[in-house]
Amino acid sequence: MKIVTPILDLFYPQYCLGCFEEVADDNFNICLDCRTNLPITNFSIIENNDLKRKFQGRLNIKHATSLYYFNKKNKIQNLVHVLKYRNKQKIGEFFGEILGEEILQSDYFTSIDYVIPIPLHPQKFRKRGYNQNTLFGKTIAKKINAAFCEENVQRIKKTESQTRKSKDERFHNTENIFKINDLEKYEGKHILLIDDIITTGATIESCAKELLKVKNLEISIASIAFTH
Ligand SMILES: [Zn+2]
Repeated sequence: MKIVTPILDLFYPQYCLGCFEEVADDNFNICLDCRTNLPITNFSIIENNDLKRKFQGRLNIKHATSLYYFNKKNKIQNLVHVLKYRNKQKIGEFFGEILGEEILQSDYFTSIDYVIPIPLHPQKFRKRGYNQNTLFGKTIAKKINAAFCEENVQRIKKTESQTRKSKDERFHNTENIFKINDLEKYEGKHILLIDDIITTGATIESCAKELLKVKNLEISIASIAFTH
């Protein structure tokens, strides 16, 4: 299958990964209609946005943003799905370009030193073959002139899906799942922690708490999509 697909692509029409309508190959395979109608949040320029409020009292962060609202059945769901499960890593570059630009324009993100993607557990990484946040993060980092860093944070505990758990179970399920190898590397730095979708925020909170053990570290959070 891996050998056949690129050859077929030369002869068959391309389909938009958001709405599945036919689209001229435009590098990302996202049609103009999808590009212009994605449900943007504008969180990058809203000081006390819904995502930032989610972490209030839980986490001391500088700013938090998501590009889009996520709900079942919107195009964002399709785009994130193919990014995560169909090896369409280019989608990460598409979102990274947009988010990077938003960060540059925003007054709430000042001088970010490192962009760090939430790591997958090694077992999950082997199965998927890639971290869906890698190209997304690399693109943001390049755009905002920060360093991309994914080797220093490790996921040491596998977690089950959060959705069927109670709030209490979710909390215990996300304790101590990350490990920072070299804490000193981040001393006095401003880190942008990124993920694809933020739902409860429990995973990103767990990773951020680990990072906040570093002296004088500041954290901001960003994701492609956000659900209430
Ligand atoms: Zn489309």
